[in-house]
Amino acid sequence: PSIDKMTKREAEKLANELRPVLRAWGEAYYSEDAPKVEDAVYDQKYAQLVAIETKYPDLITPDSPTQNVGGSVSTDFAKVNHDIPMLSLGDVFSKEELADFVDHITENEAGTYNCELKIDGLAISLRYEHGHLVQGSTRGNGQIGEDITANLKTIPSIPTELKRPLTVEVRGECYMPKASFIELNNKRDAEGKPVFANPRNAAAGSLRQQDPRVTAARKLSTFMYNVADFDPLTTRTQSGLLTELAELGFTTNPTNRVAHNMEEIDAYIDEYTGQRDDLAYGIDGIVVKVNALPVQREMGATVKVPRWAIAYKFPPEEAETVVHQIEWTV
Ligand code: NAD
Repeated sequence: PSIDKMTKREAEKLANELRPVLRAWGEAYYSEDAPKVEDAVYDQKYAQLVAIETKYPDLITPDSPTQNVGGSVSTDFAKVNHDIPMLSLGDVFSKEELADFVDHITENEAGTYNCELKIDGLAISLRYEHGHLVQGSTRGNGQIGEDITANLKTIPSIPTELKRPLTVEVRGECYMPKASFIELNNKRDAEGKPVFANPRNAAAGSLRQQDPRVTAARKLSTFMYNVADFDPLTTRTQSGLLTELAELGFTTNPTNRVAHNMEEIDAYIDEYTGQRDDLAYGIDGIVVKVNALPVQREMGATVKVPRWAIAYKFPPEEAETVVHQIEWTV
């Protein structure tokens, strides 16, 4: 039923039904790395809840999944406090909604955008002191993550020493390449172990291991794309940040592109929608970011998402193809 046609009482009843369902699905997805439903099903229910809460803001509850970064903190690991929270991303499912986002920003004279692929992995944070890697963690609930330093140190793309002795917290995505995923699931299948639902869940399960040797064997990789605070860097743009991170020794995704308007963003989306199946890693959308870092800072964030970025998610039919193709190959 359309939210518009509901009375407030009906909308409240539906919101109260949706929250525990979304919470339970989120728990299975984030804590157990074993989703109970397809992402598209989760996204549709989540969007319904957002629609209700947008129409009736007084129905928002502090524990609503819309008000919290998804993810939990396992007691199996030491806790890490994220002084600067690790956020989720707002998402849109159509180019019209994306154009609205861009129009809104353009009106505020934010200038250019940086388009990036939305890597289908999980967010990690790496803390360097004077160029030495001292701590690596998961996003957790955004405020508190899990200390997985020993596991992250086994990943070849993560430098333990930077090219310059910076004190900086670098953030990005840890993912399992499609080839590693197929190999892992084939092996698990042969051993009679349950297979992972998709590369994202496999990456998350592989990072949250007690024995770093298990993580090391899982052939994970990373693309870093953010810093908690850009002051230690010399660059003041998102595109420059990616170049500077690469110069420091990180692996960054090479496909990013500066766009000046919606037409150029549109062209980037079409290009990578077409190339999606040929990439060695999974992507579930495109992220459009305001390019100027000081403007990012000025725009800030809500409790859950930055205001200076948005994820354009691929349509569900396509979103499932990669996974299904992989499952067939397995
Ligand atoms: P998200 O994964 O959709 O988006 C935010 C994340 O995108 C960031 O934390 C970051 O890790 C990642 N990212 C990848 N590339 C990036 C880039 N270039 N720049 C910035 N960030 C980048 O958000 P979320 O809140 O973690 O999770 C929501 C997603 O999880 C939805 O897609 C939802 O369908 C899925 N989910 C599914 C279930 C289920 O039961 N199937 C349950 C809960 C959540």
